[in-house]
Amino acid sequence: MKVVENLKRINQQINEACQKVNRSIKEVTLIAVTKYVSIERAEEALDAGIVNLGENRDDSLLEKWEVLQDKPIWHYIGTLQTRKVKNIIDKVEYIHSLDRESLAEEINKRANQKIKCLVQVNVSGEESKHGLSIEEAMPFIESLSKFENIVVDGLMTMAPFTNDEQILRDCFRRLNNLREQIQKMNLEFAPCTHLSMGMSNDFAIAIEEGATMIRIGTALVGEEE
Ligand SMILES: *Cc1c(COP(=O)(O)O)cnc(C)c1O
Repeated sequence: MKVVENLKRINQQINEACQKVNRSIKEVTLIAVTKYVSIERAEEALDAGIVNLGENRDDSLLEKWEVLQDKPIWHYIGTLQTRKVKNIIDKVEYIHSLDRESLAEEINKRANQKIKCLVQVNVSGEESKHGLSIEEAMPFIESLSKFENIVVDGLMTMAPFTNDEQILRDCFRRLNNLREQIQKMNLEFAPCTHLSMGMSNDFAIAIEEGATMIRIGTALVGEEE
């Protein structure tokens, strides 16, 4: 399938989900996750009108960045090893996977300007998933005030791998509630505007529950590698 065709279908689904809950489509940023595909396929996505690209490994991001440079807005969405921070820090607009203080410290040290970070939360508590628990997230975010280059621009989660709509909805709702609590604290360094949640199989539900960034790989650009 051509990316333009997938994009058309996904945009329709985004539209329907927004209409259902009276949200504007402008509130939802579509991130094309290109981790499974070639540079050519990523270029096809940009030609189709995609603006935001997501990668989950530093080497694959760098490989694509060499060619595409700052044509797209880059999102780093994967687990980030502290020693890899310096490789990506001046190339990405958002880091979606801030999950520990040592990582915040390194980002803060390497950054030449404020970096927009999303704190990764493991809402479901599944052992296979990275991120802080709901309970840990608030004190963690408060502890970031000392890092002048860190902006907590939102929260990110990966929902459990299930088709059970209620489980998915519950996961997204809990992240939205957490965001609300953080926003109420009015922390200057933590506007916490964004909810990065929703992937190929659950993005419509995520939008209904307040997602402002959805990360779509398979359904949009496919998996060719
Ligand atoms: C791979 C990945 C995605 C995209 O997953 P699809 O199911 O292919 O849409 C989204 N978010 C993260 C963090 C990923 O690693």
